[in-house]
Amino acid sequence: MKYTRNRVNFAKQTNRKWCMNMADYTHILVAVDLTEESRVVATRACGLQKVYSANLSCVHVIEPLSLAYGGDIPVDLSTIQEQVHETAKSHLTEFAATLDIAEENQYLIFGRPETEIDTLAQQIGADLIVVGSHGRHGIALLLGSTATGVLHGAPCDVLAVRVGT
Ligand code: AMP
Repeated sequence: MKYTRNRVNFAKQTNRKWCMNMADYTHILVAVDLTEESRVVATRACGLQKVYSANLSCVHVIEPLSLAYGGDIPVDLSTIQEQVHETAKSHLTEFAATLDIAEENQYLIFGRPETEIDTLAQQIGADLIVVGSHGRHGIALLLGSTATGVLHGAPCDVLAVRVGT
């Protein structure tokens, strides 16, 4: 009985100490693929931004068509790539406006999503990355392929928000 009470007191004291030592997040980076599911991920990021009075940035990564198709298609992809960029830019601007994210905190980058998200987080000093996750295959069955990649290379905490089924 005495032992149990001591244990409870110990837990209360250490919990309080840990909570007091836990630093707030100061800069949250939300990664959006600009699908319907982005809303769910962004809503969670906004909630945390308010709780911690943190900065909020958002990023969308455009995968270069040349990466996806390599030299398999014997055509110049630059015009299509330019159109993809313009479309993504306007969608990101629209999306960020609904979250009140200032223009300087909106990032549109070319590359592989998981790599670029981690690199950007490092560059802007983000201390939390928020991504969506849903089951697909392999280890991605649990997290989703991008979320898994982000987690492996992240310079900070990562929150994987469950989306879809
Ligand atoms: P996926 O692994 O493709 O199912 O994507 C899961 C999550 O990764 C999305 O909800 C986004 O948070 C992030 N993500 C995927 N693709 C991109 C992208 N092109 N740009 C930014 N974030 C992305």
